[in-house]
Amino acid sequence: LASLDAHPLPSVIDVGGVPVGGGQLAMIAGPCAVEEPDRMLRIAKAVKAAGANIFRGGAYKPRTSPYSFQGLGEEGLKILRDVGDECGMPIVTEVTDPRNVETVAKYADLLQIGARNMQNFVLLTEAGQSSKPVLLKRGMSATIVDWLMSAEYVLAQGNPNVILCERGIKSFDPSTRNLFDVAAVPVVKGLSHLPVIVDPSHATGKPALIPPCALAGVAAGADGVHIEVHDQPEVAKSDGPQALLPDQYAEVAQQIAKLAALL
Ligand code: PEP
Ligand code: MN
Repeated sequence: LASLDAHPLPSVIDVGGVPVGGGQLAMIAGPCAVEEPDRMLRIAKAVKAAGANIFRGGAYKPRTSPYSFQGLGEEGLKILRDVGDECGMPIVTEVTDPRNVETVAKYADLLQIGARNMQNFVLLTEAGQSSKPVLLKRGMSATIVDWLMSAEYVLAQGNPNVILCERGIKSFDPSTRNLFDVAAVPVVKGLSHLPVIVDPSHATGKPALIPPCALAGVAAGADGVHIEVHDQPEVAKSDGPQALLPDQYAEVAQQIAKLAALL
């Protein structure tokens, strides 16, 4: 179902009124984790003014350490929904547990399945039974075919709305957090009709590397860019070191728009 044989034209997926895959870029931005409401509102207003069209934030965080901040849970979903409504932006948030799909789907416009859960087949199946579209990140050690097979799990349940996200894969080199596989974008485009976006934040882990990799992703044909933004990265509850400040986001968003206009 994910293949071009099944569906030769590119899919356009409606995310709370924003078409993804139709030519207009999905500009997903926001902090890694949902934090206090006033901070969320501040960040949302700033990224919207900069050109973002979908707001992000994790309420259920898949952390490497069980002692790290795990997210605000349903309270975080409510905060994200309220902020999205106030700013007129659809929201995307991660679901980590099949038991929470229904709860997350009640608040979110787009269900994120993270890299660590790309092959959680029970979660994929549950998301496939939801009426909400799914943002499926590439697993950190997944081949492109593995990733498309995971999309297939969602599609096979009757949910045709899957957006793929390249977020970097494991490599031997600690110079970047992960290795940004920009060629994955045209490879996926040659195999599948599903929209594919890039996440240079998790791919590189470094603010200075986010703009060049975001632009490379768009030049390679990505349907959108996912970037983490925080107004005080030094106190962020999660992924602070890779967050762009709102002004830095505004600058890269402007460069992306200029590049997209040339393509
Ligand atoms: C995230 O988007 O904050 C996240 C945890 O991403 P990934 O699953 O790509 O690591
Ligand atoms: Mn993050």
